[in-house]
This record gives sequence, structure tokens and C-alpha cells, in this order.
Amino acid sequence: MKKTLTRIMWPFLLGFPLVATADLPKVAVDIPPVHSLVSKVMGELGEPKLFMQQGASPHGYTLRPSEAQTLDEAELVVWVSNDLMPWLAGPLTTLASDAEHLQLMALDETQVLNYRDQSIDLMGTHDDHSHNHAHDHDHHDEGADPHGWLDPQNARLWLDAIARRLSVMDSENAETYQSNATQAKADVLELQMTLESQLAEQPAPRFVVFHDAYQYFEQRFNVPSEGAISLGDASDPSPARIEALQQHVRENDIQCVFSEPQFNAGMVENVFGDTPTVMGVIDPLGVELPLGPMLYDQLLRLLADALKECSVHQ
Ligand SMILES: [Zn+2]
Repeated sequence: MKKTLTRIMWPFLLGFPLVATADLPKVAVDIPPVHSLVSKVMGELGEPKLFMQQGASPHGYTLRPSEAQTLDEAELVVWVSNDLMPWLAGPLTTLASDAEHLQLMALDETQVLNYRDQSIDLMGTHDDHSHNHAHDHDHHDEGADPHGWLDPQNARLWLDAIARRLSVMDSENAETYQSNATQAKADVLELQMTLESQLAEQPAPRFVVFHDAYQYFEQRFNVPSEGAISLGDASDPSPARIEALQQHVRENDIQCVFSEPQFNAGMVENVFGDTPTVMGVIDPLGVELPLGPMLYDQLLRLLADALKECSVHQ
């Protein structure tokens, strides 16, 4: 009797919250936007752990020992898709076979778009060493485009799916997961409507991106890109290819060229510095944003702001 009492009193004496976090499911997640959605559902109860470095490209990755351990200890693994992370299949089998799995793009309710061929074709200007891969990573022209988190409608469906799964695993907190998800869905919908009207105010900008990751955002908000320029970040493009890219940008009245944080800014400047385009940086992953429930909203807001900035320049 005395023992039980001591155990019950412990958290109160130390000022811990009422919920014992030790009982919460250990959740491992892949990229910052998914971390954000799971954080919204867990709310005050706790937070998930990333099993990848925040700044890393999910297309190719090698787990560090601490990240392998995160997967090993996880009771629930939430990730975007096997197409986005072909390297993950092995670690999921060897490290997380006893955990529950939630692959978001594989859910029935997820809206999946097929890859499109958006790469700007500059016939005959490819450098010899880059002819095999315009991309530095694993994008295919066929099959499902895995960048589905950039459609807030998918995010809302996923909030429900995450809450459902956590509620089953941790029924004591089911009500909290459900009400957190309901609130988060309302917030994301409100954000979507705000961005829709923000982007509808101005004529759609003519822009190109570095990596064709934005199809879901482009379709949802009706802001199509003019293509993807994949320079690859390891090799410098040849003078002939630079010339062809510059010509393409001039001939197609491209207003903005959007790079991504991991690309070499100096090289972008070299290639497009002489053209009348505005150069910006957009980021599909939120690699430089503070992790947490608000990251997802911030990510979408920054994309919309960049496009708005671009259309101001026309
Ligand atoms: Zn990608």
C-alpha cells in the first residue's frame, strides 16, 4: 500500500504533468513536415523523433547509429513513401519489424499524382558526365510522385490517419489525439483558404524550379511551374548548357528561378546571373525551420510567399 502511494505521488511531487510520458507510444518519423503533422496530433502529450537528419534529402540517405536506434526503439514508424525513400526498406525490416508502420502515400484516401516529365529538355547540351542523370537523386518519370505532403488536403487526411493509429495503440489518450487532430485539420484548412486567396490575387508567376517536387502544391493552388532544371549539385554545367538554360529562360519569359537550400548558390548565380530572372530559394522539406507543430504551416506559407514575391516582379 505504501509503495503504491509513493509511486502515485511521485509525478506530483516533481511537478510532472499528469500524463506519464513513459506510456506514450514511441513514434519515429522521416521528414520535418511529417514530424510536424504527428506533433500536431500528439500535442502536449509528447513528440515524435526524426530518424533522418533535418537537412538531408530523403531520396538517398544512410542512417547514423543514433537514428538506427530511434528506428529500433520505435513502436510506430510514420513515413511518406517507399518511392521517396527507396533506401528505407532494409532498415524498416531489420530495425523496425516489430513496430507498427504507417506509410502515408499508401493510404487509400491519399490523393496520389503521377510523375510528370517536367524536366526542361535542352537537346544536345547535356554534358557527357551528366547525360545519364539530370537529377542527383531518384526521380522517375513514371509512377507515383511521392512529394504528396505539399497538398494540404493530403495533410488533413493524414492527421486523421495518425490520430486513428495512435488512438488504437494508446486508447487512454484517444480523446486527446482525436481532438488535437480535429483542431489541426481546421487550422490547416483555414491556412489553405488563406493561401488560395493570396495566390489568386495576382496573375500566376512564370517560374522554374530546380527539382520537380512541387506538383501537389502547384495543382492545389493553381500555380503551375514552367519546368524543372536539374543541374545536379556535384558537377558544374558546361558553358554550352549554361548558354542553353539562359536562352530558355529568356525565350520563355521566366520571371523566377527557384533554387533549394542544398544547392550551391554560387553556381545558380553563375548560370542565371545574366538573365532578367529573379532568383529565390524555396524548400519542400523545411530544412531550416524550427521543428514542431507549426513547421508544416510555415512551410506552405513560405512557398506561397515566394510565388507572390515572384509575381510582384512581372
Ligand atoms: Zn524530390
